[in-house]
This record gives sequence, C-alpha cells and structure tokens, in this order.
Amino acid sequence: MAKNPKRFLVKVSGEALMGPDKFGLDPATVERIAADLAEAARTREIAVVVGGGNIFRGMQGSKHGVERNTGDSMGRLATIINALALADAVRAAGAKAVALTADPMPSLCRSYFQPDADRLLSEGQVVVLGGGTGQPFFTTDTAAALRAAELDCAAILKATTVDGVYTADPKIDPAARRYEQLTHDEAIERRLGVMDTAAFALARENALPIIVFSIQGALAITNVLAGNGKATHVVPA
Ligand code: UDP
Repeated sequence: MAKNPKRFLVKVSGEALMGPDKFGLDPATVERIAADLAEAARTREIAVVVGGGNIFRGMQGSKHGVERNTGDSMGRLATIINALALADAVRAAGAKAVALTADPMPSLCRSYFQPDADRLLSEGQVVVLGGGTGQPFFTTDTAAALRAAELDCAAILKATTVDGVYTADPKIDPAARRYEQLTHDEAIERRLGVMDTAAFALARENALPIIVFSIQGALAITNVLAGNGKATHVVPA
C-alpha cells in the first residue's frame, strides 16, 4: 500500500509524560502534549504509540526478581494506563480521540484491529495505541515502527527530550553535534541509541522516515509537522 501523506505516527515515551516528576503522569505535561496532538489532528491524521517507562519497564523488573515475561506484561499494562490518560486529555483538548490496546481488555478499552484503526484515523480521530506490539521482548519503539507500517503512515515522529540525534550524548559531551539527516543503515551501524535496532530495521524495510525531535516545548509536534524547528531526519538510503 502507498503511504498516506496526511497520516503520521507519533511515538511518545512514558518518560515524556512524567514532566519534571520521577514517576507517573504529570497533569500539566499530559495536557500540553494532548493540546499539541489535538492541534496536529486539525490538518493531519494522527496515530500515537505511547510508552510505559514512567511507570514500569520489563527490563527494570528483571533486575528486582520479576520474571521477564511478567515484567513485560506489567510494562504493557503501564502503556495502557498512559494511553487511556492521553486519549482522555486529547478529548479534553477538543479533538476526537480513542485508545486502542494490543492486549485485549474489553472492559477497559477497544482492542487494536488494523482495519478499525485505519477507519478511525480516516474519520479524524486521534488513535492512541497502548499495549505495544502485544508481545513481550519488544519495545514501544518497535511497536511504533510496526503500526506506522501497518497503517501506511508517511513518517514516524519520534519524540525525545533532545532536538535530534547527536554524535554523542549532548547532555554529557558539549562537543556533540546534531545530525541533520541520516540513513537507517547509518543509525544502526553507528549504534545511535535513539531507537532500538529492531525498530530501525522495521522502519528501514518499510522505507519509513523517522523524524527525531524534542517534545519539551508547546506545539512541538505541530511545529515539526510544519517543518519548523530542529530535528534529525532518518531517511531511506
Ligand atoms: N513492552 C512489551 N512489548 C511491547 C512494548 C513494550 O512487553 O511490544 C513492555 C516492556 O516491558 C517495556 C514496557 O512495556 O519495557 C514499556 O515500554 P517502553 O520501555 O518501550 O516504554 P518507553 O521507554 O517508551 O516509555
């Protein structure tokens, strides 16, 4: 299927929803990101894959004696909590939004089914996807690449706390330089940790551009969609 030039997949990590806090959801930050998503949805079709690192990560649990499969189930539950919160906040911001989960939870929200998600997006709903891929041993970055491919998105917008991909961690190394553009192969070969290798590989196989940008400011998503502000573009070779 051809990519839909109006449709974008935004990956919002759990940490982005934490704001200045060390855990959980910061209401002001959730409100700001939701307002940004609602604004972006006025001119684009917006799917969101949300992480869960603000509440629980499977790897973190395995360090404290939680078995990996159980830890990953807990991690996916965390993403569903975030998806419910974010969809609610997008509705409060005035847009239509729905949370869908990859792990069926009929009493909590609707399950992800590609044709339904596709239709909801065409109807102008912001579709917030929780539960990652619905399987352990994956990350929500890989879920973002998977759903972007399934839903014919034009690109993945990978929201982070820095304005792109750097040669080194700019918070540690003042000499670090930001890449304007990279190929998926370069991102994988140079082990640029902004997304995991599985996510980059899936994006590469489906010729999906990835735009890495900072979600710290107001209307960051809307601005990056308009081509404003700093970002790194990961593009097919
Ligand atoms: N997870 C999973 N399968 C998936 C995606 C996520 O089991 O397809 C679990 C995994 O334990 C992960 C947690 O959910 O650590 C939260 O996701 P992630 O770490 O990607 O969140 P983020 O770093 O974006 O906040």
